Amino acid sequence: MVDTLTPAQRSERMSRIRSANTLPEVTLRKALHRLGFRFRLHGRRLPGKPDIILPTYHTVILVHGCFWHRHEGCKVATTPKSNTKFWVEKFDRNVRRDAVVIDQLEAAGWQVLVAWECELASFAKVTAKAISLGEEIKGASR
Ligand SMILES: [Zn+2]
Repeated sequence: MVDTLTPAQRSERMSRIRSANTLPEVTLRKALHRLGFRFRLHGRRLPGKPDIILPTYHTVILVHGCFWHRHEGCKVATTPKSNTKFWVEKFDRNVRRDAVVIDQLEAAGWQVLVAWECELASFAKVTAKAISLGEEIKGASR
């Protein structure tokens, strides 16, 4: 494939990809914080290093990118048309790893919640997701 991007365009595109990986997590954290939740970040000793940990509620939240973690039925979770076998195997490994991590966390007594990146694509969506997560988080301690 011919590379038609100038270095500036490429770097602009890359920076957007990078921020797409972290921005949803940050905005979700802020929204949960506004709702009064307090948490720890990236628990190094927990399986899968969960993005958001709420010790009080024994809950962790995994923020998953729809493409890499294969959000079922999501329009972002496409499969590239070239090197398809490579991608399918890679995605299968990711999905298997996620399932193992969730099993390990649950076995250790954590409630595991997942926030998909497409659910965090706008301020309104983040707010709505934070509210619904908040109900699940509190539900766990009942
Ligand atoms: Zn999605």
